[in-house]
Amino acid sequence: MIEANIDLQPHNTLAIPANTAFFARVETLDELREALSFAQQKRLPILPLGGGSNIVLTGDFPGLAIQVGLRGLTIAPSGRGGTIEAAAGEGWHRLVMSSVERGMGGLENLALIPGNVGAAPIQNIGAYGVELCDRFCSLQAMEISTGELHQFSASDCEFAYRDSVFKGRLQDQYIITQVNLRLAEDWQPKVSYPALQQFIEQQGWDCNSLTPAQIAGAVTDVRNSKLPLPDQIPNAGSFFKNPVVNADIYQSLKAQHPDLVAYASGASWKLAAGWLIDRAGWRGRRHEAVGVHHQQALVLVNPGRGSGDAVTGLARAIASDVQDKFGVTLEPEPRYYP
Ligand code: FAD
Ligand code: NAP
Repeated sequence: MIEANIDLQPHNTLAIPANTAFFARVETLDELREALSFAQQKRLPILPLGGGSNIVLTGDFPGLAIQVGLRGLTIAPSGRGGTIEAAAGEGWHRLVMSSVERGMGGLENLALIPGNVGAAPIQNIGAYGVELCDRFCSLQAMEISTGELHQFSASDCEFAYRDSVFKGRLQDQYIITQVNLRLAEDWQPKVSYPALQQFIEQQGWDCNSLTPAQIAGAVTDVRNSKLPLPDQIPNAGSFFKNPVVNADIYQSLKAQHPDLVAYASGASWKLAAGWLIDRAGWRGRRHEAVGVHHQQALVLVNPGRGSGDAVTGLARAIASDVQDKFGVTLEPEPRYYP
């Protein structure tokens, strides 16, 4: 059923108040097709919605927001790995924990990432050194203009760091309906991030006998200790991508700021955007309804449930200050609508 003039505040984790002209929750492929043809007849833009944890509503949306509620999760363990077929409306964290509970390894580093399965390929979600593309097999998506279903392999998706073809060449052309993953049987733990290592040391766990469940627990604890829960303090996670710069820029910055946090990424360097924002003096600062989280400067928060303008205004001020102080350009990670 298509509803008119619906408030999207409960549907975005930044809790920005904004209306959508039309709203549909779809639970089957036929319902999705019907919603798409409604939008086509009225020439409406479409906003596919999962959990709303990676969007910024800059104003009212003049089209049809489609909440993709397709359900279904099939998990087939094999050794310490196996295969997973998940419909787009399944919760991502539920999928991770369902695999970990069956003794399967490979997704534990991606525990507690908010949102739904259908959005995971959009920005190739990643955390603690693992990205969706490392476990990805294929996906099914409905073409918005025709309602036809298409299969995409990993190479079709053109995954990159927090990026995919669905944010570029094929943006706004498909709705992802199902994601298929393959977890290798010869699982090895990946715990190179300092925060994870520290947690494991504190627990006194033997690094040679770690289980996927232990790592998922460690990731959950570490994340809970420093990231604000959106239902308590509205936020969209990391607001900016970590900028990737060439070796010359990195060396010049490192000479000026010996404690710069950066990691080699091929021939380039990935700078920790949170460090740049913190060092520019923004951590914990509040601008009326919005602010910068006191423990993690990369997370913009909206405790006063301010407007999209308030959020994007703060983001612009931070990016401009970081540009002035470090000569580095910050790009927002969440997508702005409309
Ligand atoms: P939404 O916000 O609803 O949508 C995001 C984008 O995908 C929009 O452009 C939307 O139109 C599109 N989209 C959604 N569903 C579909 C679909 N079925 N078909 C086509 N397009 C679709 N991200 C990480 O990568 N790593 C992290 O560790 C991480 N941690 C986070 C922590 C917090 C506290 C928060 C709030 C966010 C975090 N994020 C992280 C960002 C976010 O959780 C992910 O990007 C997640 O995949 C978004 O899922 P969603 O269902 O909420 O997507
Ligand atoms: P962190 O562990 O404090 O690390 C700070 C930054 O350094 C991260 O951005 C991370 O890059 C990078 N980093 C740390 N150790 C690294 C290593 N061994 N190799 C390569 N890069 C390394 O970061 P955090 O903010 O607490 O987040 C922890 C993880 O969760 C990160 O992977 C982060 O991306 C993810 N996360 C993402 C979001 C989001 O909305 N996108 C929100 C919260 C957390 P990467 O970001 O590239 O990993």
